[in-house]
Amino acid sequence: MMSNEDYQDRILTCRDCGNEFTFTAGEQAFFASKGLTNAPSRCPSCRSARRNSQSGYSSRPRTERYEAICAECGQPTSVPFMPREDRPVYCDDCFQAHRPAPRTPRSGSYSGGRGNRGDYRERRERW
Ligand SMILES: [Zn+2]
Ligand SMILES: [Zn+2]
Repeated sequence: MMSNEDYQDRILTCRDCGNEFTFTAGEQAFFASKGLTNAPSRCPSCRSARRNSQSGYSSRPRTERYEAICAECGQPTSVPFMPREDRPVYCDDCFQAHRPAPRTPRSGSYSGGRGNRGDYRERRERW
């Protein structure tokens, strides 16, 4: 015989970040209703972080970095692609500085048609 009143908030320690988090009575009841007997081993933020990172790829730690010298400041750096003679390589700082503009997320990622020049209207017209 179990009722929700039997549950009490529990303080658990996240195995990923080591922070303590509360496994509430309500969550325990919810877990039990799902037939889960194990307490969660990660805090909510680590759980959601893992969920987000699990889109598609399973763990792929293999990111190859190539040693390179920054064409701007001359510092050694590493890049995730094979450096080429005909292309300057920049360290992170210089790379940021070389960007024309910070990327602003715009709605509508369709690659625009040919030459919309001139009058750009904010107002959307009906077709
Ligand atoms: Zn955590
Ligand atoms: Zn640099």
